[in-house]
Amino acid sequence: MKNTNPAEKVLEIINRVYYRGLTTTSGGNISTIDEEGNIYITPSAIDKGRLTLDDIIKVRPDGTVEGKHKPSCELPFHSNVYKLRPDIKAIVHAHAPAIVAFAVTRTIPNVHLTSHTEKMCSNISTSAYSLPGSLKLGNIIAEEFKKGYDIVMMDSHGAVVGGKDLDEAYSLYESLDFAARMQINANTAGCSLAEYRTKNKIEPPAAKTFVNGSQSEEEQKQRQEICDLCKRSYTLNITSCLDGTLAVKLEDGSILITPAGKDRNSLTPEDIVKIKDGQVEEGKTPDPTYAMLLSIYEKHPEFNTLYLAYPPHIMAFVLSGKNFNARLIPESYIMLRDIKTAPFSALADGTISETISTTVPVVLVEKECVLTAGKTPLQAFDRLEVLEYSANSVLSALKLGNIASITDAEVKEINENFQGW
Ligand SMILES: [Zn+2]
Repeated sequence: MKNTNPAEKVLEIINRVYYRGLTTTSGGNISTIDEEGNIYITPSAIDKGRLTLDDIIKVRPDGTVEGKHKPSCELPFHSNVYKLRPDIKAIVHAHAPAIVAFAVTRTIPNVHLTSHTEKMCSNISTSAYSLPGSLKLGNIIAEEFKKGYDIVMMDSHGAVVGGKDLDEAYSLYESLDFAARMQINANTAGCSLAEYRTKNKIEPPAAKTFVNGSQSEEEQKQRQEICDLCKRSYTLNITSCLDGTLAVKLEDGSILITPAGKDRNSLTPEDIVKIKDGQVEEGKTPDPTYAMLLSIYEKHPEFNTLYLAYPPHIMAFVLSGKNFNARLIPESYIMLRDIKTAPFSALADGTISETISTTVPVVLVEKECVLTAGKTPLQAFDRLEVLEYSANSVLSALKLGNIASITDAEVKEINENFQGW
């Protein structure tokens, strides 16, 4: 169940920020404001690893404080932003390592790397350095929000984001962190993406709808499987909270697919969207790439699962166009085989079906995303996980020395001993 009590929501989101590794126990603060103008904010100097509900502080409109601690020292910028931007009802400020890397170099993460990050994070500005907790810093930040920005990079400090609620503010912060990590990883691969702008647009077609009847046991099981694997991908940092499209085919040929704009950490079986004969389950919105994936299923009836995602390490190769060789360790080659690339246009017009197959189950879609296929949901997930972890290893190996790829003879030996699809 989602929290509606403001103090409970603050506790839920600050736990998420902290345990996602987006801030330290002593750094960062978040708040939300209710209809009466009461601000619920994290406390000052209390361990973020062990917060409880009665640690959250309420600050009334007249400035009186209710709670057993002092409110965060950054209360001035929170209250200033709420005064100047009545549409903003929640603020997240944190010191994620990748975002701090940009803050200390006084640069802004390129938010135009993918259609997803561009959509989420384009409304971004910067602010000059000032002492944490000072009125001056409060005014500097609030001025940027007053101009209409929703994300403000703070020189030599971090970032602060505002949203209509804490879920939105959190997802903005996390998307910014993903953009920052993708760009840093591409730099490690030897490619600067500072000026790069995606040209890709993903517009789902208008679709007829149908009313879904009673669900078979198979459908119920696969709906739960999609939720479990999406949560796992999110927990392992392979996807961010709003990306990753997982599609699974049922025995009758209909497809179950992830919904657009719903948190991957808390999907429920009823959030999953069924597509039958090209029609969309009534009252639900599938991920915008659903029609592209349907055309792949048409050409490849042997596929059970397709997983499209933007994992931050392999995206360094996807975005920079650098070759990615899966002949790293036998286990990576066994799962990934010889990876091919395809242009985004091939994903959009369905000709990617000519590239992806049972012998090429992993495709890098140039400048956009990765796509894995599997004969079960777990196998497609496994491929995505191996792909992302292998990319992480390659980026680390580049700092150590030359990579000794496994040879053609060794690959032949693997093929003789480990079946592919
Ligand atoms: Zn701070």
